[in-house]
Amino acid sequence: MGTDSSVTGANQPAIIAIYDPSTEKQIGEIRDGGAAAVDAAVSQARESFRAGLWTGKPPSERAKILWRFADLIEARADDLAAIDARNVGMSHGHARNLMFAAAEQVRYYSGWCTKIYGKSADLSSPGGITGQPARYHAYTIKEPVGVAGCIVPWNGPALNAVIKLAPALTAGASVVLKPAEETPLSADLLADLLVEAGVPEGVVNLVNGHGHTVGAALAAHDDVDKIAFTGSTEVGKLIVGAAAGNLKKVMLELGGKSPVLIFDDADLSQAIPGAALGIFINSGQGCVCGSRVFAHRKVYDQVVEGMTKAAQALRLGGPADAAAGRPVDIGPLISAKQLGRVMGFIDEGRADGVEIVTGGRRLDRPGYFVEPTVLTGVRPDMRLYREEIFGPVVAVMPFDDEDEVVAMANDSIYGLAAAVWTNDLARSHRLAKRLEVGTVWLNAQFAWDPAMPFGGYKQSGWGQEYAIEGVEAYMKTKAVYAGL
Ligand code: NAD
Repeated sequence: MGTDSSVTGANQPAIIAIYDPSTEKQIGEIRDGGAAAVDAAVSQARESFRAGLWTGKPPSERAKILWRFADLIEARADDLAAIDARNVGMSHGHARNLMFAAAEQVRYYSGWCTKIYGKSADLSSPGGITGQPARYHAYTIKEPVGVAGCIVPWNGPALNAVIKLAPALTAGASVVLKPAEETPLSADLLADLLVEAGVPEGVVNLVNGHGHTVGAALAAHDDVDKIAFTGSTEVGKLIVGAAAGNLKKVMLELGGKSPVLIFDDADLSQAIPGAALGIFINSGQGCVCGSRVFAHRKVYDQVVEGMTKAAQALRLGGPADAAAGRPVDIGPLISAKQLGRVMGFIDEGRADGVEIVTGGRRLDRPGYFVEPTVLTGVRPDMRLYREEIFGPVVAVMPFDDEDEVVAMANDSIYGLAAAVWTNDLARSHRLAKRLEVGTVWLNAQFAWDPAMPFGGYKQSGWGQEYAIEGVEAYMKTKAVYAGL
């Protein structure tokens, strides 16, 4: 089962079966177009960029088109959600929420279309490098990067695609989008909605297929100017290598092993549900999921007990369960491969003497469901401590003081996000500075807004998405000197 049933060589088309992970039943198939499909999509994107089909439109018109795209996402939220819910195994309600978040993302960026400009400066130097006095009126021009290849993962397929498309289009880039091979189904509808909104055909181009075929060909393509990638750190490194051929620009949003710090002065009635949401949302399949919870020794037992109760209260199910009126909080893992990976981590922990306080088993029903799992006794030398699991598995560990917990939190190759729960105002701001991550939540968890930049420190990424930084990722800056 899973999507690995087809074997594809680098240039060999193949059929990829698509599954509903809550039932393990096949729900569709796609064709891996291989390198030839990538060539065709890149050349269409290049053509549209050269012809100025999108960049030639006045910014206010592009803004209106993007706003219309947002309206269409909302109007078709149920259709998009139905596709993603089935393809990811999440409840329709959750998938629908993601569509409204996607629409908000597009609306936010629509406003930026009319606000992109450079800087200017009047410069006068008495000598300068040449030794000659000189005066210039100097300014910068912001230009779209050209053709952007966007490669996205499966955890929230339509939203992940929109997070790339909206800033790329705001910047004026043409796009080749590669959805994850597990979850390609909603991208077609999104592409139709873009055209219906007024984005000219050829500006956004879809290519389907495996990562090692289509993804790799896109990352290596000589006529692609930028790769924006969200996925695993391991593949991120492959992308950097592939991109070196033409030194295309690279933006990476990668994995994480986010720490959650709960101090003894924290409001546990907020911190515990916050930490539980932070790991169990989407069954732990989120890059920012807080998989390492550090609890001050004075509240450690309470935190373990609270996390355990929160884990046990979660109801697992797929879209069919939710549609039948059964309450569903979280869904399955995405594939048999992920199931095997997550269970492998748990079994390894069990063998290493880790205590499984709750969970630790696959549900005895069809679908790749894993019980929300709370572990204690996880040590820094274990893979469970260091590696991203991408499942509903949290390790709770005690600490005694601030310096110790900062060292533990920062002891990771990752640096995506961290949460701090404390009622000491000065400490919270101090820790915001000391934690080596791109996003810090103080007495909050999983906060997200298109207006705030998002990106990873260390091996969690290069560059940032969201906010104006997200648009700049798809732009170049030119410096112009006018002699006076
Ligand atoms: P993945 O890296 O295996 O795949 C992600 C995408 O990359 C897919 O579209 C895949 O087809 C493609 N890909 C795979 N191999 C490739 C290659 N050699 N060249 C080019 N493209 C290739 O990741 P995954 O397992 O599908 O997704 C989970 C990972 O994504 C986790 O590590 C998670 O932390 C990360 N993630 C990060 C963010 C973020 O914003 N930082 C968000 C969601 C997921």
